[in-house]
Order: sequence, then C-alpha cells, then structure tokens
Amino acid sequence: MAELVTLTDHGLYCPQADLYIDPWKGVKRAIITHGHSDHARYGSTYYLCHHHSIPILKTRLGDIAVQGLDYGETIISNGVTISLHPAGHVVGSAQVRLEYKGEVWVISGDYKTQADGISQAFEPVTCHTFITESTFGLPFFHWQPQWVVMRQIQQWWERNRSDGISSILFAYSLGKAQRILANLDTSVGPIIVHGATHAMNEACRQAGINLPPTYRVSELPDASLSKGALVIAPSSAAGNSWLRRFEPYRTAVASGWMAMRGARRWQAADRGFILSDHADWHGLNQAIQATGAKRILVTHGYADLFSRWLIEQGLNASVLKTQFTGEQVNEPETEITET
Ligand SMILES: [Zn+2]
Ligand SMILES: [Zn+2]
Repeated sequence: MAELVTLTDHGLYCPQADLYIDPWKGVKRAIITHGHSDHARYGSTYYLCHHHSIPILKTRLGDIAVQGLDYGETIISNGVTISLHPAGHVVGSAQVRLEYKGEVWVISGDYKTQADGISQAFEPVTCHTFITESTFGLPFFHWQPQWVVMRQIQQWWERNRSDGISSILFAYSLGKAQRILANLDTSVGPIIVHGATHAMNEACRQAGINLPPTYRVSELPDASLSKGALVIAPSSAAGNSWLRRFEPYRTAVASGWMAMRGARRWQAADRGFILSDHADWHGLNQAIQATGAKRILVTHGYADLFSRWLIEQGLNASVLKTQFTGEQVNEPETEITET
C-alpha cells in the first residue's frame, strides 16, 4: 500500500486525505499537533487541532480559520479516518492518528510520558507506523519525577525571597510556564510574568485551563511587591533591560538541556533545573513499545543514533528529515518583547 504520510517540501503530507501535519509552508489544509512555533506556522487556509490549541494558535497566528476536535473524536476525509490523542507535551498537544483501509499511522508531534498535571497525559495509540521525535533520544537523558524538580524550584524561590532577592526563571512560554504555575505553591509571594508568557497563559485560560493569578509589571498594585517575587520569562529576555527593575535578582533556566550543563554553558544563569516537556530516553522507548508499531520513523533530535538503536531492537526504523527543532535552550520565539 502507498505510504499514508510522505515528506514533501511543505512538510508531512497524507496524500489519501490531501492534508498536511504541522506544515512549514502554507497549505490548504493543516492539522496542527500543538502550538509551538516550529509546529504551528502561518499561511495555511484551514487549520485543524485539539480545541484547547485554538486560542493558542489564534494568539500566535491571528484570525485563522480553525476547527477544533476533542481527543478521540473522529472525522473522515476522502476515506481516511482522522483523530487526535493526548501527547502530554503542552496544553492542547495531540498525536494524530490516520487510518486508511485498515492501515494505521500515528504522528506524535512532540510528546512526554510523564504526567505534568496540566496537559492531558500521554496515551499510547496502537498503530502500524509510528512517527516519533527524538529530542532527548540518548540513554544519558533521564528525568526525575516532576515533584522533585518542582520542590527544587520552590526551595530556590523561597530561599531567594527570604534573602530579599527576586527569582528570574527562564522557561518556555507555552508549556513550562503553565506547568510551573500549576505545580508550585504560589501562596509564597507574587508571580510576575513577561508579556510573551502572559500571552500564552491567557490563551490557556481561554481554553479553560485553571492557572493561579499572575501579574504583569504594569499591573502590580505596588512596585515594591516585585522584591522577592518569582518572575517567569522566556530565555530571550535574558540580558534585557526589562530585567533591571527586579534587581537584585538571581536567574535560573528550566530545560532538559540543563542535564548537560557542564558541556553546554548557558548565559551565566545562576541555576539550572532539569525540566523538559519532551520524553526522556526511557519515555521514548516505552512509548514506542506501547504502540506495537513495527515501523518507526524518527524526526527531530538524535534521529540517526536513535533510529540505529531501534534497528538493533529489531524494529524497522529510519530517519525522517523534518524542519522541527525540538526543545532549545534559547526559545525560538521573540514576537513579544518588553523593555
Ligand atoms: Zn513542542
Ligand atoms: Zn517540536
């Protein structure tokens, strides 16, 4: 049978249904796995995504024509049954399941297997061919339980606060920012967010996600409240004059790459918290096994090494060279800047 998904210069394409998944150029019909900028791009005529992703996509892409689906809800296009399933990556993130004449393919987008308490937890979907990312596809990457990392962040903030110092935490504005907000004890003190973080928080609130109250600098009832506050900002704000108002402060980065801190120094942050919205080595292997798929196509990350490992495990694996970027220490989104 013909492939259900092929790689074209516009992105991953399903010829039977005539639609693209996370295309990197404008197309007629695009299914979007989640709202990160390397997956949700401008220029397509019709978008389809999980309904929680709609306000996120509209914040990012403007007034687009978009249809929302629930997890597990199916639609049929030219004989292809299409459904979305939780990917556990960020709010609204979905794996795309395509079924045509008994053949099932799943495109996972980005995913993590650890439940984060804010995005719907990852669910393995049985399929013949599974398209997986491999951002952290080396045995070296092993995540601690989330509560351990959240406790580290909590203690860091409380310690700084008792020293009269503000805590600047650099974290992705979609995903980590909400995850941290949902899992910290926010009664400790005020939380201030950068404009880019605020925009994503608001989109998630519009999707019906409960987040604790946060302030923008301009909304603080009293400027002195910023002393000892937790400030969540994208890493693009590092070195920015916007931060000066919070002096004295300490900085930290929340990223899976902090596991490699020795090898990869990042901008003189005082602290690194190992927190990722992607699966670690064990999570990737577990997720792939749970699909029962015999054929695995590996996209962004350590794709060559990881596909070789899968072949050694007896799977039919190969690399699919997409333009997705995976987690980056320097978040690739600077649409909203603050001064
Ligand atoms: Zn992502
Ligand atoms: Zn990605």
